[in-house]
This record gives sequence, structure tokens and C-alpha cells, in this order.
Amino acid sequence: MTQKGLSIIISAPSGTGKTTTCKRLIQRMPNLRIATSHTTRKIRDGETGGVDYFFISRKEFETKRDNEDFLEWAQVHTEYYGTSFESIEKPQQEGFDILLELDVQGVDSLRNMKFNGAYILILPPSIKEMMNRLRKRGTETEESIEIRVNTGKEEIKNYKKYDYVITNFDVEETVESILAIVQSEKSRVSHYIPTSDDIKELLG
Ligand code: 5GP
Repeated sequence: MTQKGLSIIISAPSGTGKTTTCKRLIQRMPNLRIATSHTTRKIRDGETGGVDYFFISRKEFETKRDNEDFLEWAQVHTEYYGTSFESIEKPQQEGFDILLELDVQGVDSLRNMKFNGAYILILPPSIKEMMNRLRKRGTETEESIEIRVNTGKEEIKNYKKYDYVITNFDVEETVESILAIVQSEKSRVSHYIPTSDDIKELLG
């Protein structure tokens, strides 16, 4: 290993193509592990429990929250979402890069605790495009679409909380941009691990 694992924090309004982007990213970065979140929202068609999320009840969530099992948690739209310590500690210790998909409240929490990582916001080309993509997905009611669009607008307004902003015109291009960010973040002095005994000795 020549570099320490990197934490990549990604936010994106609903209907921005975040899920597809993250899936492609996983294929391109064999050393990347997703920190699977817990949520109280209902499972959607095509999702798998324990992979996309750990789907749990409100009561189970509240118990975990009260036991301080979460690094951060937030109410997004009308449901709870949280990142457990467990989901990041093991991959971190094993030297993997980790991917955290969080909303802006999660980003606020991590920033407050000075959690190191590359904070990336993915945006849709326009709000109209975001609405079209949500309607096309067909998984949400009109009411839920409206809530998601309003939350999305808030996220756009908070863009300065991130280190990088990428507009998702094309998924492949977006993935390439993230890979470029990862490459430069990993080349930071703080991520360097000496690659040989003589360099290790030289640096003390
Ligand atoms: P969705 O229900 O569409 O999968 O996700 C809704 C929102 O919740 C997205 O903005 C997503 O990034 C966010 N989210 C997912 N997991 C977590 C988490 O563990 N913590 C926080 N704060 N937000 C999350």
C-alpha cells in the first residue's frame, strides 16, 4: 500500500443520476467500498436490503440512534437515514477507500467533526431536468417528487459546503471527473505512505 484510504463523500439531489454514477465508480475503483446506510424508508423495486441500504423500522432506528451507533444521522424528506460507525470502521481499517452517500445535513455533521475526505456535490444540469428524471423513474408519487425537488433546491443552494461540484451532463464524464478528483486527493502529502525501507528510514 502506498496511500492511505480516502473517504469520498457524495451528495446529489434526487434525480441527478447519483446511484448510476456510484455503481460505475465502484466498477472502476476495485479498492472502493460503499458505507451502506440505514434507513426507515421503504425498499424500492430493484433494491436489495444490506446492499443499497439496511432497511429498518423507525423503532429500530431510534434504538440505534440512542445507542450512539451512528457517526451521523438525519431526517431526509420524511424518513431517517444514518451512517453507522460499523459501516466505515472495518473498510477503513483494512485500507479501503470508502464512499459515503449523504445529504447536506450529513455533510454538515461530518464537517463539524472535521471528518477528512473529498466532499463532492453532483448537480443536475437544471431543475427541470431533475424533475423529468424523477418522473421518468416512476418510483415516486407527485407529492414525493415535489418534496424531493424542494430538498434538491436546498442542496443546490448549499454548494459551497463541498470541495467539488460536478454537473452531471453525462454519467461517464461524471465518473471520469470523480476519478480525477480521487487521484489528486490521494496524491496529497497527507496520504503518502513510504514505499520502501530506505525511504521510511530517511523520513524517520
Ligand atoms: P434516497 O431515499 O433517494 O435513497 O435518498 C434520499 C437522500 O438521503 C439522498 O440525498 C441520500 O444521499 C441521503 N442519504 C442516504 N443515506 C444517508 C445517510 O446515511 N445519512 C444522511 N445524512 N443522508 C443519507
